[in-house]
Amino acid sequence: MARLYESRKRILVTGGAGFLGSHLIDRLIGQGHEVLCVDNLFTGTKRNIDHLHNHPLFEFMRHDITMPLYVEVDEIYNLACPASPIHYQHDPIQTTKTSVHGAINMLGLAKRLRAKIFQASTSEVYGDPTVHPQSEDYWGNVNPIGPRSCYDEGKRCAETLFFDYHRQLGLPIKVVRIFNTYGPRMHHADGRVVSNFVVQALRGEPLTIYGDGSQTRSFCYVDDLIEGFLRLMDTDETVTGPINIGNPNEFTIRELAEKTVAKIGGAELITMPLPRDDPKQRRPDISKAKALLGWEPKVQLDEGLDRTIEYFRDFVGQMEEA
Ligand code: NAD
Ligand code: UDP
Ligand code: UDP
Repeated sequence: MARLYESRKRILVTGGAGFLGSHLIDRLIGQGHEVLCVDNLFTGTKRNIDHLHNHPLFEFMRHDITMPLYVEVDEIYNLACPASPIHYQHDPIQTTKTSVHGAINMLGLAKRLRAKIFQASTSEVYGDPTVHPQSEDYWGNVNPIGPRSCYDEGKRCAETLFFDYHRQLGLPIKVVRIFNTYGPRMHHADGRVVSNFVVQALRGEPLTIYGDGSQTRSFCYVDDLIEGFLRLMDTDETVTGPINIGNPNEFTIRELAEKTVAKIGGAELITMPLPRDDPKQRRPDISKAKALLGWEPKVQLDEGLDRTIEYFRDFVGQMEEA
């Protein structure tokens, strides 16, 4: 979309080379904004942003947000943080630093610039929830000293910082709690369930169900999620969040495995031990997003899974050729 210079914003997206960040950047550039993508490439890849390499509205900067960042922008989306258990547990101290020091630096940047700032928080702030479905006023059931704590407590502390910068300094903030999201450009080896199952089935390997597969998740297709981000960012200053964004259609992990095998064929299902602190069920209450943003997901699992399979079919094919 062509846009007059006066209405064009300079937007910083941290974690922009990751799964969600790269889709967000595509939408922002599609709207005619200038994007500065800041990423240390820990879990993100240049492949996700390759198509933007020579785009006049796009700039990439390799940087770790636990370090101060001095740039001039109009808006900030803070997405930088490893998101899958394998990756965030690889270096848990760095994960907490990214969530907490990273948030402090990005909030300090926003404060200096008086810029609106968006935080990608997570349904993990609800921990292993005792309330179902989860609405934003539920405070969560989180283990502070377990293997998931670096991520869960890091994200909780980041939310605290966002709300304190808002209350104490009047900073305009937008906090979204993201529920399980899937789609093209998920990391093929980060252990998340949709990418694992699709890649396993495409390779004709057994699908690994952890536990008995009766635990549930609600899967949101990436395009729906990004639409929710943009709508939240567009709200007036009174809307801060936190707002759940996710798809309330809930499936057991076994159902997901069966659906994947039905689409790709061939593979068998095997069970493996359930990881510690693995939440038993998760489903967003999205009433707030519906009321405040007029948002609800449009792409259901069948269609989203087809699009994801198409992406991984190419990806797995290219990996096998290489
Ligand atoms: P991702 O791992 O694909 O992307 C995260 C990006 O952040 C990567 O490109 C990584 O290299 C970068 N990064 C990590 N640490 C950094 C640092 N210190 N400095 C600069 N860059 C750094 O994950 P994603 O799924 O795209 O997640 C994006 C955000 O959304 C994360 O904050 C995550 O916690 C949140 N989230 C995602 C989901 C989901 O289902 N995908 C669910 C809840 C929350
Ligand atoms: N910061 C940054 N970029 C800026 C402004 C600040 O990275 O443009 C960092 C800075 O390193 C500081 C953090 O943000 O540690 C928090 O800034 P704030 O002004 O809130 O705190 P203070 O500097 O007063 O400790
Ligand atoms: N899971 C599984 N097999 C896999 C990967 C994950 O059964 O190969 C399960 C996992 O134990 C969890 C659910 O799928 O119950 C979702 O896992 P994911 O890591 O995608 O997300 P999160 O646990 O953070 O919601």
